[in-house]
Amino acid sequence: MRIDTKCIQSGYAPKNGEARILPIYQSTTFKYESTEQMGRLFDLEEDGYFYTRLANPTNDAVAAKIADLEGGVAGMLTSSGQSACFYSIFNICEAGDHFVCSTSIYGGTYNLFSVTMKKLGIDVTFVDPDASAEEIAAAFRPNTKALFGETIANPALVVLDIEKFAKVAHDHGVPLIVDNTFATPINCRPIEWGADIVVHSTTKYMDGHATSVGGAIVDSGNFDWEAHADKFPGLTTPDESYHGVVYTERFGKAAYITKATATLMRDLGSIPSPHNSFLLNLGLETLALRVRKHCENAQKVAEFLNKNDKVSWVSFSGLEGDKYHDLAKKYMPNGSCGVISFGVKGGRESAVKFMDSLKLAAIVTHVADARTSVLHPASHTHRQMNDEELKAAGVTPDLIRFSVGIEDADDIIEDIENALCAAQ
Ligand SMILES: *Cc1c(COP(=O)(O)O)cnc(C)c1O
Repeated sequence: MRIDTKCIQSGYAPKNGEARILPIYQSTTFKYESTEQMGRLFDLEEDGYFYTRLANPTNDAVAAKIADLEGGVAGMLTSSGQSACFYSIFNICEAGDHFVCSTSIYGGTYNLFSVTMKKLGIDVTFVDPDASAEEIAAAFRPNTKALFGETIANPALVVLDIEKFAKVAHDHGVPLIVDNTFATPINCRPIEWGADIVVHSTTKYMDGHATSVGGAIVDSGNFDWEAHADKFPGLTTPDESYHGVVYTERFGKAAYITKATATLMRDLGSIPSPHNSFLLNLGLETLALRVRKHCENAQKVAEFLNKNDKVSWVSFSGLEGDKYHDLAKKYMPNGSCGVISFGVKGGRESAVKFMDSLKLAAIVTHVADARTSVLHPASHTHRQMNDEELKAAGVTPDLIRFSVGIEDADDIIEDIENALCAAQ
C-alpha cells in the first residue's frame, strides 16, 4: 500500500460482521475462561489482552498504523511525546550509561535529557547537528548506547543529516533514534535513511486537531542487538522480571519494542487512553492530505514574509537560499513542515505588537495544528531569560514561531500583513 492508503487502511482490518470503524475498547481488563491461559499471557508465552496498561486493542491498532507509515516492524503508543522520548532511551540505557544527542531538539526533550535523566545516572553529550562525522564521533565513549536527533528540530527548524548520523551511530555499534514529529512519515521516513528507532509526539500533526497529547515509538527491526550484545544486556540476557526471557531470542526483530512494552510500560505506565487513540486515528486518516496543505500554505507564507520589508529574517527550509534547503530537498523532496520562524524589524517590542495584532492566527503554546497558531518564545517558553541569555539559547528576542494551518493561504497572509502594519 502507498502512504495515503496506509493512513486510511493500516492497523485495523475488521472481520466479517465486525465494526468497520476502529472500536474504542474502553476497558481496563479482559476476561478469560481458564486460570492457566491467563498464566501463559503473564509469561509472554501467548498473545492476548489482559490489562490495558500492557496492551489494548484500540491502542495496538493505532500503534500498528504508525509503525506501518514509518516502515517499521512494530510500534508502541505512549501518553505523550515526552514519555516516548524518555522510553526510547531508557529502554537501552541504565545508570552509568551515556548517549549522544543533537543540540537542536525540542526544549522539553532537552530538559528531560540534560537534567532529569542525569539524575537517573544516564549521561548525555550534546553535539552540533551540523558538525562533521568526525566531530560527532569524538563525543562517543565506551559506555555510549545511542545517538538521538530530530528530523526537523522544534523550534530551530534545523534539518538533520540522517545518513551522517546513522553512519556515526552504526560505526560505534549503537542505534540512531530519530524524533520525526515535525516531518511526519508523509514527508520523511527516517528508517529508509538508516534510523533504527523513530519517536513521535503524536500531539502535533498526527493528531492534527489539538485534541490529544500522545506519543509513539516505532522499531525498524533493523538494529542487530546481538552483534553488540555486551552493550545491550537488557535485550540479550535473561530478564529475571519475566521468568528469564531473552528478548532478542524470543522476539527477534521486535525485541526492542517488546521489551519497552513488557518492562517500561508495565513499570512506568505512560499509556494513552483508548479514547485518545481513537481520536489520534481519526487524525491519522487525513494526515497525508493535511500535511500536503500545511506545506503548500507554509511555502506561500514564507515567500510572502521573505519579500516583506518589515520582516528582518525568515527561516524555512522550503526557501531557496535557506541554510537547510539542500538537506530538506534530499530528505523531504515533497515539503518539510508547516512551521516557519521569522523576525520582525523593531525587535522584541514589535514582535509583541505583531502578535497582539493578529486576528486569525491564535496565540497558543501548541504547534502543528490545523489552525494557524503563533508563539513568541521570548515572551512565552523562554520568558525568564534576558536578551543576552536568549541569544545564547539561539532564540533571538524578535523570533516568532509561526505554525501555518490549513486555512486558505490568502487569509493567513492578509492576517500577517495587517499585523505587520499595526506593529510598526
Ligand atoms: C512537542 C514535542 C515533543 C513532546 O511531546 P508532547 O506530546 O508535548 O509530550 C517532543 N518532540 C518534539 C519534536 C515535539 O515537537
